Amino acid sequence: SLQWDESCDVLVVGSGAGAMTAALRAHDLGSRVLVVEKSDRYGGTSAISGGGIWIPCNHRIEALGGQDSAEEAVAYIRAVTQGEIDDGRIEAYVEQGRRMVRYLDEHSRVHFEAQPRYADYYPEVPGGKPGFRSMDPLPFDARHLGAEFARMREPSPGTLMMGRMGMTMKEAQVLLCRGPGWVGLTLKIFWRYWRDLPGRLRSRRDRFLTLGNALVAALRCSLLDRQVPLWLECRLERLIEEEGRVVGAELVRAGRRLRVRAQRGVVLGAGGFERNPLMRSQYHPQPSRAEWSATPPWNTGDAIRAGQALGAATALMDHSWWAPTTHVEGEEKGRALFVERTLPGCIMVNSAGQRFVNEAAPYTDIVYAMYEHNREGATSVPCWLVFDAEFRRKYPCGALLPGYAMPDSRIPRHLQRYFHKADSLRELALKTGIDATGLLRTLERFNPMAEAGRDLDFHKGESLFDRYYGDPTVTPNPCLAPLLKAPFYAIQVNAGDIGTKGGLLTDPHARVLREDRSPIAGLYAIGNSAASMMGRTYPGAGSTIGPAMTFGFVAANHIHGAA
Ligand code: FAD
Repeated sequence: SLQWDESCDVLVVGSGAGAMTAALRAHDLGSRVLVVEKSDRYGGTSAISGGGIWIPCNHRIEALGGQDSAEEAVAYIRAVTQGEIDDGRIEAYVEQGRRMVRYLDEHSRVHFEAQPRYADYYPEVPGGKPGFRSMDPLPFDARHLGAEFARMREPSPGTLMMGRMGMTMKEAQVLLCRGPGWVGLTLKIFWRYWRDLPGRLRSRRDRFLTLGNALVAALRCSLLDRQVPLWLECRLERLIEEEGRVVGAELVRAGRRLRVRAQRGVVLGAGGFERNPLMRSQYHPQPSRAEWSATPPWNTGDAIRAGQALGAATALMDHSWWAPTTHVEGEEKGRALFVERTLPGCIMVNSAGQRFVNEAAPYTDIVYAMYEHNREGATSVPCWLVFDAEFRRKYPCGALLPGYAMPDSRIPRHLQRYFHKADSLRELALKTGIDATGLLRTLERFNPMAEAGRDLDFHKGESLFDRYYGDPTVTPNPCLAPLLKAPFYAIQVNAGDIGTKGGLLTDPHARVLREDRSPIAGLYAIGNSAASMMGRTYPGAGSTIGPAMTFGFVAANHIHGAA
């Protein structure tokens, strides 16, 4: 009855890590797959991310001398999600996550290594682990991608050395606090970049890919090996349903409307709605601004709304993968503050000059605290990160490189208004609008505690997780130092995110559910298009891409009746 312009077995909407994992697996199970991407670049937020995945019981743990079990992993997720997520999805995640990684390791160009020292975010909770569950993608050589390299979304400058040279998570950690061998490492990174002369002649973009770019490149390359098509500038408009089953979708490609038939199913991996101001004002705590997000500007909830139009249920719409961010004039997205708050010599304060949170807490918890404590006269959305000259000299902060690499006299013009600087705390307060008396009182209390290494108010540096990004050369507490040395600095911190986590409600097979909990045949949702199976929390590094890829794999399996 319907006219189709194009036909495939499985239509995958979006090109983040989850979507491409679904596409790969569906192809390998025998389907003709089409991947469509709304923007002119593939990779989504996944491409600009750390690319880490949190996979309990992964197949690398034992060889590294670690230990894990499905029971412990399930108990941990259940505890941190506080009963909000049904056991079926948690068990499916733990069971299928490790299968997904092993599958990619054996059948594709996508390879991960486990991080022995990257602790779960709540290692003290029963079933929590001091390391091994977070996995980082191995570096990837962009030359394998050929011309397709130019169509991949570029990494965030904040994840590159001097804003242009690729580095691995491990390398970044050595450089962060100038750990042993940092000079040699810096030279090695320079050499790696400059010896690629053909690459340098073409563009300044580094072909030694790491983090999210390595992950997305490896996935895209694996799809190219299989000749799976990926259409850019092609967006989902609407799903097409026939007798209660999704049979295809209406897409817009370069201004032209297309009806694409999907014989076996549609997988929605089109991200969340973090860049949709209307949806943010409808669902999120206020104030909430799309430009505070650290994600590219394309995830506007299209897939979620397409599902809702068919009667799909949603959950967790008022939550995000929150992360504090700072805004650099002229940049299209915020920069997430993952590590700098943890380092010694800074505090986060509200407009009354008071601390209100452990600065080293997981990023999601920081923004929860910002909203929880936000009130008139003591505004914490946005709030301030305040630090002294010693911190400025030693560490990077948002868009600022450490002072030893970028002294104040050499800060580029576009960053001049990014931060406030003053010779005294009182003057800094005047410049930022922070209450001066409050700020002075806070530091009167904080500085002696920092000196002694005990934060009696918020316990910064007590958790194993806090210390991961601390400065190991600072004792007794690698996350605490007094703010003593002028000049003093402040940058504004926004209630940002690295994606929303509310979306379509799904079952353990990634099927989209109606309000009455019956599945919509032929329709699957993964990544941030689906309501997160991690509830309000963030169990460990890689808790968004881990599930996105796992349920991409699960969806493809279910479509093909494979276990
Ligand atoms: P995306 O990767 O954003 O992909 C969605 C794609 O769908 C986009 O390309 C978008 O353009 C496309 N799209 C949108 N609408 C349509 C439409 N109508 N039709 C077709 N296509 C559409 N998470 C981790 O787990 N580990 C990390 O190490 C990590 N590090 C991060 C670091 C940074 C700096 C940031 C910003 C985020 C990080 N995150 C990390 C979070 C993580 O990157 C995202 O939450 C995750 O990648 C979202 O995956 P997704 O597949 O849902 O969406």
